Amino acid sequence: MKLEGIHHITAITADAQENIDFYAGVLGLRLVKKTVNQDDPTVYHLFFADEEGSAGADLTFFEFPGVPLGRAGDGMVHEIAWRVASGEAIDFWAERLAARDVETHRGENALVFRDPEGLQHVLRVSTVDDPALIADHPEIPRELALLGFDGVRAFSSDPARSEGLLRELGFEPGSDRFTEHSWEARGEQRGGTIAYDEPPSERGLQGAGTVHHVAWASTPEEHEGWRARIAAAGGHPTPVIDRFYFRSIYFREPSGVLFEIATLGPGFTVDEPLESLGEKLSLPPDYEHLRSQVEANLKPVHSPREVTA
Ligand code: ZN
Repeated sequence: MKLEGIHHITAITADAQENIDFYAGVLGLRLVKKTVNQDDPTVYHLFFADEEGSAGADLTFFEFPGVPLGRAGDGMVHEIAWRVASGEAIDFWAERLAARDVETHRGENALVFRDPEGLQHVLRVSTVDDPALIADHPEIPRELALLGFDGVRAFSSDPARSEGLLRELGFEPGSDRFTEHSWEARGEQRGGTIAYDEPPSERGLQGAGTVHHVAWASTPEEHEGWRARIAAAGGHPTPVIDRFYFRSIYFREPSGVLFEIATLGPGFTVDEPLESLGEKLSLPPDYEHLRSQVEANLKPVHSPREVTA
């Protein structure tokens, strides 16, 4: 069994519209699902991805309106890495972000920036030939667009603690140049990495602009098998939870990062057609009969795609 890299990453925002404007409008991702938090249907759960809504490019946000800004600390993801194709793509994004007053820092074949709530991202020139996961955006040529996740970086005061479980889950030592504590999960189609950095002295605070969890991808057939393997390795997995678009298992890895194993499929076209993904509010079947109440509680948001549609 091999995990197929990162399935999705879920973070927190205090402002759904500002979030859509940044991720769909500026970064050019497609809003592929607009739904509610399945554990709290009074707030949005937004899913951004490539054109097809693929695992591997799916960044999701819980909206908690007005929640204070958080900060990443020990046991939390502090950076999301995306692949781009070339140095020209790095130049393009440096210019595009600067034109929108987003501060950037250039590294070697990399560009670091933060979203409006402080969530840190890095674009890296890809060193692998995994399938490119691209969303259409009128201002972003396909050859310069984001290509899906490369990995995440997390803070850990004792990254060696995570090694046993990661190895049990099929992660292999990665080649991160900033830390010896880097790991890759690579399946038949995709790979994704996690690297651990020394934490800041300040405690982390879960809030707007922080990552809530990282999900790794499993085939539907192997999903139950992963649960057994986590438990055998001393982890404490939740039961399998049906998230409607995929099935999920959650557990905290030993450094403190909340992991999920999510199935590849059934996917976002299970309740709306590919052409109009994300345009209307999707509700899990259990909430459909409450649609008018749920909708009345949510502040309407619009995606830049609706304007051009
Ligand atoms: Zn998740």
